[in-house]
Amino acid sequence: MCKLKNLVTISVFLAYILLSLHTGFLVDNYELVASTYTRDLNDLKLCLDQKGLSPSVLVPRGGSFKYRLLNIPWQMKPPKTKPLAFLGPQSDTDVVAMVSCCHQIGIHLVIKGGGHSFGKYSYGNSKSVVIDLRALNSITLNTSEGTVTVGAGHLTGPLGWQLWSTGKLLLPMGSCPTVGISGSTLGGGLGSFGGMYGLTMDQVLEMQVVTAPGNIAVANRVENSDLFWALRGAGSNSFGIVTKFIFRAIPAPPAVFQGHLTFGLQQFAEVAAVWQSLIARQTEATTYTAVLATSGETIRWRMADLSANEKHFENLRKLFPPALNVSKATYTFPEFLFHQAKVLCAQIMRDGVKLEKPSDLGNLNRLSAIPMYQERKSFFVQKRVGKKELFLLQKFLQGRALTNVSVWFESFGGTPRKVGINETAFVHRGETLYLAVANYQTEHPNDTANAIARAHIQDFYDLGKTLFNHKETYQNYVEPDLEDYLERYYGGGLPKLVYIKQKYDPGNFFNYPQSIPVKL
Ligand SMILES: Cc1cc2nc3c(=O)[nH]c(=O)nc-3n(C[C@H](O)[C@H](O)[C@H](O)COP(=O)(O)OP(=O)(O)OC[C@H]3O[C@@H](n4cnc5c(N)ncnc54)[C@H](O)[C@@H]3O)c2cc1C
Repeated sequence: MCKLKNLVTISVFLAYILLSLHTGFLVDNYELVASTYTRDLNDLKLCLDQKGLSPSVLVPRGGSFKYRLLNIPWQMKPPKTKPLAFLGPQSDTDVVAMVSCCHQIGIHLVIKGGGHSFGKYSYGNSKSVVIDLRALNSITLNTSEGTVTVGAGHLTGPLGWQLWSTGKLLLPMGSCPTVGISGSTLGGGLGSFGGMYGLTMDQVLEMQVVTAPGNIAVANRVENSDLFWALRGAGSNSFGIVTKFIFRAIPAPPAVFQGHLTFGLQQFAEVAAVWQSLIARQTEATTYTAVLATSGETIRWRMADLSANEKHFENLRKLFPPALNVSKATYTFPEFLFHQAKVLCAQIMRDGVKLEKPSDLGNLNRLSAIPMYQERKSFFVQKRVGKKELFLLQKFLQGRALTNVSVWFESFGGTPRKVGINETAFVHRGETLYLAVANYQTEHPNDTANAIARAHIQDFYDLGKTLFNHKETYQNYVEPDLEDYLERYYGGGLPKLVYIKQKYDPGNFFNYPQSIPVKL
């Protein structure tokens, strides 16, 4: 009987350990894996305890299921990172306590919004602690002020759906729904409504920021206006943690018209010449236009009209050479959001993720995106080039069709160009016509294919230098290998950014490989 009792006790104990290691939810696994803890982690736990935070906000490195879930990367580029721990703040005051503790102990803290940094800049390294903002996902409408306050942990897809369903509102954001509102806003935010409403950051009226060593600052045009300037364009992990954004609330249109023209790749130079002239005179700002050159044999021109005016499309269509295919549709606003996410971002969604109707956007989360190896290079184009240059580009595209590599051009016509070059830290305005992008993405990376694709993207960038003499890169499409990244991301705004860094973070507590330095 006694033997049986011992056996049962041992079995229960073993099951308890296994379950704890696997789930991480059932017990505070801190005690169980204490032997693997570093001194820093012990100090951090103690500090957070003293500030009254629940032990569950800290998920240390170890075998726990919770840790593994938090550490699923979107970007598959090696090496796989395993940060010391994850911190999961439930409120702004938790963020203050966490910054204060990490600062006091000297732990490297990395900020994670949606986790879609191409350079894995929100993943940290084996010595960092990652503060994952996902629980900061409130939305508050202020109808009298015409504003909406949004927590920094939102993903753009669920946020777009909630804005529409709670207040029939929109924010100009990118199309892929699993991208975070934080990273995309702080570095710009290009998307389908950009022609009319500019970048996502152009709609920010105020931000709440936790700076080192743990202070809350409000940044707007009046209070901390220098910080407000810097955060709009250079705000990713250089000055502090943005916990809330206040955006201008924009009423969503009832319907959106979308038209596509498909051409053969051999028509590229001709089509691109028309497209360039359209952007150059796009002042009406009701539309978004893009030329998309894929890795296949066709290119597509896409436009969306927020006034649902099909006539506009028909008029513009006459300017282009005859298309191989024309498709057009008018969507209700939520259908348009859904359609964009479904069609433009199909490749990045995990199999089995339910995306059948607009309200499904509201249920997407960080695990809805499939882990990908993705690499991108971009450059802004300021001057229209002639047919000769466009033809050379066409030859390049025709000669180098590669699986998983695509090239596209995003219009900067309309409102984005109207904001002054010095008004924010996003300096790619003024004469900018469009952003040229070369992208490689695959779920099944291998060294040979990766190297070929990287060389291809680099060649596109180099050819672009010859043809366009480009000098600027989009900071949201971070390029870890770029040597002159500070100049290319921030141009003439760099000295001011360094000055503001010295003022708000002189100890360089907030840093990553491409953050704003304390001195040049
Ligand atoms: C599939 C895909 C589609 C995309 N589509 C578009 C598009 O249509 N338009 C566009 O403009 N961009 C687009 N991007 C680029 C995207 O805007 C950037 O990758 C952006 O940085 C991602 O933000 P995130 O919050 O998801 O990423 P994260 O990796 O969480 O954050 C990016 C950077 O910002 C920092 N950061 C995050 N949150 C905060 C915060 N609250 N305070 C301070 N710093 C913070 C992080 O530390 C990191 O350095 C796309 C990217 C991907 C992968």
